Amino acid sequence: VKTIGVLTSGGDAPGMNAAIRAVVRTAIHKGLEVKGIMRGYAGLLQEEIVDMTSTSVSDIIHRGGTILYTARCQEFTTAEGQKKGADICKKHGIDGLVVIGGDGSFRGAGKLSALGINTIGLPGTIDLDIACTDYTIGFDTAVNTAMEAIDKVRDTSTSHERCSIIEVMGRNAGYIALWCGFANGAEDILLPERYDGDEQALINRIIENRKRGKKHHIIINAEGIGHSSSMAKRIEAATGIETRATILGHMQRGGAPTCKDRVYASIMGAKAVELLCKGESNRIVAYKHGEYVDFDIQEALNMHKDIPEDQYQISRMLVR
Ligand code: ADP
Repeated sequence: VKTIGVLTSGGDAPGMNAAIRAVVRTAIHKGLEVKGIMRGYAGLLQEEIVDMTSTSVSDIIHRGGTILYTARCQEFTTAEGQKKGADICKKHGIDGLVVIGGDGSFRGAGKLSALGINTIGLPGTIDLDIACTDYTIGFDTAVNTAMEAIDKVRDTSTSHERCSIIEVMGRNAGYIALWCGFANGAEDILLPERYDGDEQALINRIIENRKRGKKHHIIINAEGIGHSSSMAKRIEAATGIETRATILGHMQRGGAPTCKDRVYASIMGAKAVELLCKGESNRIVAYKHGEYVDFDIQEALNMHKDIPEDQYQISRMLVR
């Protein structure tokens, strides 16, 4: 490879900037040229391509978001869009590409690999819902942000002896909810992977806890289940305990990345460039069982992961 392109795609995540910086600086260190592709695949198709130097990525390691911006792009899901994308890469001399995003972005990366652009994916999502890896860029920052916010809601919830439903992000994955369940000692966690919709059981636990003298009842609800406001109304009506819903929302996607996200994203960014230099393509950099590894994109997309049942049981046992 002579010229490496880098883009961020799908939902943004804190630490993406650290990954971009590592890609750019590693490539320059190896004597390669680097181009930044703005706004994911949408920007690629619009030829929003800029030259990157070492100073283009100065002063960004500590910033949330992504300096390259991110977007979703319908056109790129078509064969014509993908062909156009590969042709634009070739036109700009981009023979290696690093795609930072989630599973959707990796599907696109796989298509570009098949069209002759050496492509490597980096797992960037706050949801942790990429099966081949135990770590995704942004999860650590997001759970810390959510944890701090939930602590604050808990204080006021206790003072007013309320029940609080706090909705955290995670459309199909309950990892943020599980981790906050542990870290915040939440009385209940509702995970998309586990919740059976038995609201009466939830109500019974709230009443039971109140009888045992608990001053608050914190329910962490994952975005994938949603309906936190209507749930709060039904719980209040059924228990007589004042119940409020707080939806944390996009604050979980922003903010300065934690040390862990900066370090892991930096290492993964460098590993992506090393793979390209070795002539590798169609791979995803992952962190599995304490090591940095890489997988074939299709193999990775076919993997499945679920909330570890033992961890879920422990988190529930600790609040009983
Ligand atoms: P994420 O990467 O976070 O999972 P999305 O699912 O929104 O986010 O995917 C990001 C972008 O990747 C989409 O807007 C689209 O341009 C591209 N993409 C998603 N699925 C495919 C696919 N099957 N083939 C090609 N490109 C895809």
